Amino acid sequence: MTRIAFIGLGNMGGGMAANQARARREVMAFDLVAAAVEKAVAAGCRAAGSAAAAVKDADVVITMLPAGQHVRKVYAEDVLPNAQPGALMIDCSTIDVESARAVAAQVKAAGFRFADAPVSGGQAGAEAGTLAFMVGCDEADFPAVEEIIRPMARAVIRAGDHGAGQAAKICNNMVLGASMIAVCEAFALAEKLGLDPERFFEIASNSSGQCWSLTSYCPWPGPVPSAPSNRNYEGGFATAMMLKDLKLAQEAAAKAGAATPLGAQAEGLYALFDRLGGGAKDFSAILELFRGKAP
Ligand code: NAD
Repeated sequence: MTRIAFIGLGNMGGGMAANQARARREVMAFDLVAAAVEKAVAAGCRAAGSAAAAVKDADVVITMLPAGQHVRKVYAEDVLPNAQPGALMIDCSTIDVESARAVAAQVKAAGFRFADAPVSGGQAGAEAGTLAFMVGCDEADFPAVEEIIRPMARAVIRAGDHGAGQAAKICNNMVLGASMIAVCEAFALAEKLGLDPERFFEIASNSSGQCWSLTSYCPWPGPVPSAPSNRNYEGGFATAMMLKDLKLAQEAAAKAGAATPLGAQAEGLYALFDRLGGGAKDFSAILELFRGKAP
């Protein structure tokens, strides 16, 4: 039986680890938050007392952590000194391209295989096992990476070599941030014009305004029952996380000399919403900014 160490059991990692357990893999689960580990155990994983203990006998290590600094630290201090020879390491967090390449180099220098494999699809996709994975790895390692990822995925696409998965992810999330703002502005305007928001949803979702932010993650409560707008914007994908991704995109754009004016606007608006107190809410709560409501 494949033995997987799963480190980071938050909004995303919790559902992903549960899907690995459901696929009859032995999952050693660890998070700094005890309640997250308990939830994973209830879903069929085994509790590990530390990240080091989780990786000790693992064939595969999967990490799902907040940002680059967490990933660098966990690999340097916990994973690499304790992993068994031949282990495959897959980082699914969204982090900066430089950190992904630096961690990949360290992992390879220590004799292990590595993939950066950030995801799209939100908490609902993590729970349902329908995430899209964007993978940066050596071509020869991709079949093994894909086989491990499969129980968590709707799609697994190799973006290129190490770091390419993260590049794809920040470009995708720049589209997402800008499109969510556009959808929220449109709902706020529709409301001001006296148009029933539910009618607007029905019309736009059958017209050229159709997009994922509207039809899969509607910021207006009601039309899409699984969307965080129906639970007071709790859970889902935090504004602070979206802001992190938009900053990563702007940093990468500045370094690459790319013009991304809408991405810059989106970063500014999410920074404002964060400063107003919306950081912990799902990113679709930015609707409140355009409706003139406090977060
Ligand atoms: P989260 O904050 O809910 O979960 C992160 C978890 O990592 C927390 O439970 C935290 O306790 C744990 N953690 C931090 N440091 C640790 C350490 N040293 N050892 C063990 N555990 C540690 O965040 P999330 O929403 O699950 O997002 C995780 C990653 O996935 C982020 O990089 C995010 O950008 C990305 N992502 C999130 C979504 C989403 O919709 N939430 C979608 C796609 C990608």
